[in-house]
Amino acid sequence: MITLAPWLQASLENLLTRPGHAWLIQGSTGLGQYDLALALAQSWLCQAPTPQGACGKCASCHGTAVRVHADFRMLMPETEMIERAWPLSEKAQKEIDDKKRKPSREIRVDSLREMLEFCHLTRSGERGKVVMIYPAEQMNTVTAHTLLKTLEEPPADTRFILATAAADALLPTIRSRCLVYTLRWPDAGSALAWLSEQGLPGPDAAVLLRAAGGRAHDALVYFNEGMKAKDWASLPKLLLRGEAGLLGEATPAMVLSVLQKLCHDMQALACGGLPRYFEVADLPAAKNFNTLSQWSRELMDSAPSIDHTFNAGLLLQAFVSRAQRAMTA
Ligand SMILES: [Zn+2]
Repeated sequence: MITLAPWLQASLENLLTRPGHAWLIQGSTGLGQYDLALALAQSWLCQAPTPQGACGKCASCHGTAVRVHADFRMLMPETEMIERAWPLSEKAQKEIDDKKRKPSREIRVDSLREMLEFCHLTRSGERGKVVMIYPAEQMNTVTAHTLLKTLEEPPADTRFILATAAADALLPTIRSRCLVYTLRWPDAGSALAWLSEQGLPGPDAAVLLRAAGGRAHDALVYFNEGMKAKDWASLPKLLLRGEAGLLGEATPAMVLSVLQKLCHDMQALACGGLPRYFEVADLPAAKNFNTLSQWSRELMDSAPSIDHTFNAGLLLQAFVSRAQRAMTA
C-alpha cells in the first residue's frame, strides 16, 4: 500500500466522499498526482474501504499492490511503466524484446484500445472496473480522441482517473468530461515533516525543498538521485570555474532544469530581486542582465529536443561552458 503524504491523504479523503465516473486530478509538477490517483483507484476497488481509503488487506488491495488486478488498467507511456515496474502487455513486451521498436514515451493508441476491450468485454467484480491514465497529457492526439469517445459514452461499470501536471495540454473536451480536482501546495512545515519521514536529514531537506521550488516529491527525487545540500550549494561556484559538479551524474533533462533555475536566480539578482532556488551567498554576483537573458532563451530553446540527446557527455560540456560564459560576462 502507498503511504500518502499528509496533504495527499486529506485530498484522498475528500475525493472519497464525492461521486463521479471520471476524475481529472491536476496541479503543478511534484505534488504527487501519481500517488493520489493510485490510492484513489485502490480505494474504489477495495472490498472493505474506510473513509481513509483502501483497507490494504483484502484480495483486491493485494491485487493492486502486486500490479495484477483483473478490474484495473493502468495507462502510462511504456517508459513510465518500465520505470515504475508495471507490466507491459504481452504484445508490447514482445515487440520491445524483439527490438522491433523502443519503449514509447507517449500513451499509445494500442494500449487505449486494449483498455477499451477490457471495459466492454470483461465482467467486473462487485466494485466495478477502474482505469488510471498518467500522465494524461502524454496521450497523443489519436489516443486522446479515442478516449474522448469513451468518456462521452462511458461503460456502465467503469470509472476513470486521469492525473496530470499539465492540464492545459489536454483536449478541452476531455477536461470538460471530467470532474476536476486541483492539488494545492503543501505549506513548508508539512512538506519538511514529510521529507523527514522519508529519511531526508533536516539540513538536506530544507535546501533540497528550496532547490525543488517547494515541490516536496521533486525534492525527494533529487535526494534519491544522490544530491546533498552541499552539492546544491556549491554548484554555482563550480560552474563559474567550468566544472560540472553534481551535473556530471544527471540526465540531460535534469541538467537543463537545474541550469534554468540557476539562470532564473542570477537574473533575479541582476534586477535587485531575491533568488528562489539558491541562497544569495552561494551565487556569484550577477553582472550583465542581457547576457543572462540571452542564456535563458538558449536554455528554453534546447528544451524540446533534450530527451533526444545523442551524446549526453558532449551536451553537458557545451552546457557547462555556456553557463561559465554567461556567469562571467
Ligand atoms: Zn482492501
